[in-house]
Amino acid sequence: MDCIFCKIANEEIPSKIAYEDDKVLAFYDISPKAPTHILIIPKTHISSALEIDSNNADIVAHIFVVAAQIAAKENIARDGYRIITNIGKNGGQTVSHLHFHIVGGETLGDFA
Ligand code: AMP
Ligand code: ZN
Repeated sequence: MDCIFCKIANEEIPSKIAYEDDKVLAFYDISPKAPTHILIIPKTHISSALEIDSNNADIVAHIFVVAAQIAAKENIARDGYRIITNIGKNGGQTVSHLHFHIVGGETLGDFA
């Protein structure tokens, strides 16, 4: 499958890794929108959060555990940060492999 994030997970495309285990990879966004901008992906291909069901939902819990650890390590936990997943065209998703943005390090614009 021609998926850029699968290639990053397989290390066919290099990335700056923030965290890795057997299930997930976290790496620095190539075009950061805030002082800290990290993406967390499952190593197995899931197209978006729309594809989460009872068979694969465990990975989302694991990603949130990892996200909290990364936020602490990156020193953005105390002042707060945001976890975002874009879904589909209207959601602004440009890479069709489930990913959670961790953004922080400054006051983020109001959204919701
Ligand atoms: P989204 O718009 O939610 O699909 O987010 C995709 C994100 O992937 C964007 O923030 C891009 O800057 C980022 N991105 C795309 N290619 C790479 C890459 N090779 N390494 C790191 N981040 C990337
Ligand atoms: Zn993929």
